[in-house]
Amino acid sequence: MGAIAAAVQACRKRIVAACTEAGRPTDCARLLAVSKTFPAAAIREAHAGGLTAFGESYLREALGKLDALADLPLEWHFIGPLQSNKTRPVAERFAWVHGVEREKIARRLSEQRPATLPPLNVCVQINVSGESSKHGVSPEQALGLARLVASLPGLRLRGFMAIPEASPDRVTQRSRFSLPRIVLEQARAEGLPVDTLSMGMSTDLEAAILEGSTMVRIGTAIFGARHYQEEGEIP
Ligand SMILES: *Cc1c(COP(=O)(O)O)cnc(C)c1O
Repeated sequence: MGAIAAAVQACRKRIVAACTEAGRPTDCARLLAVSKTFPAAAIREAHAGGLTAFGESYLREALGKLDALADLPLEWHFIGPLQSNKTRPVAERFAWVHGVEREKIARRLSEQRPATLPPLNVCVQINVSGESSKHGVSPEQALGLARLVASLPGLRLRGFMAIPEASPDRVTQRSRFSLPRIVLEQARAEGLPVDTLSMGMSTDLEAAILEGSTMVRIGTAIFGARHYQEEGEIP
C-alpha cells in the first residue's frame, strides 16, 4: 500500500475511535481530504485509497486539478476565502463551499449556479477566534446569514464551518468547537434544514468530533507537510 492510502486508513481509524468515544455512530463524521498544494497524482492515490471528497483553497490551482482529474467521480469542496470577483468558477464547478461569510458572496454564488446542477451546498463560516482571525461571521450573526443562504434558490444551506486557532490542549479545543455546535442547535430549533458541522483538522479532529463535527477537513495527516506558503493565490 502507498503512503497516502496508509495515511487514509490511519485517519479513518482516528475518526472511528473519536466517534466511539463521543458515543456517536462510527460513520458520524465524513472525511474531506484537503489536497491544496498537492498535485493531481496525490489526489489519484487518495482516490485509489477510497476517498472521493477533496477540499481546495486556492482557486487557480484548484481549477487545474479539476481539469486534470475530470475522469474521476470526485466531489470538490471549496474551503478557502472567496473574493466576490472569483465566485463564478466556484459556482460552476464545485459541489460545496465551506467558507461563506458575506451576503454578497452568497447572492453571487446563487445567481451564478447553473440551473442544470443541484444547488451548491453551503456552510456559513463562524469566527470562533475573535480578533485573531479576520474570517467568518460572529456566532451572533451566523443565524442571519444562514437564513439568507437557505432562502436563495441556487444554494442549499448545510450548516456551519469553523477554523479555531490551534491549541495543544483538548479542553481549549473543545470549548472553541462548542460554539458552532450551539449555533447549529439554534438553527435546527428554528427549523433551518442544517445537517453539517464542518470542523476539525489534522491535529484536532478528535475534539471536533466530540463536539458534534460531521465533516473533518484533513490535509497534513493524509498528504504530509505542505511545502509552500499558504498565503494568497499560487502562481
Ligand atoms: C489547509 C486547511 C485544512 C487542513 O489542515 P491540516 O492541518 O493540514 O489538516 C483544513 N481546513 C481548511 C479551511 C484549510 O485551509
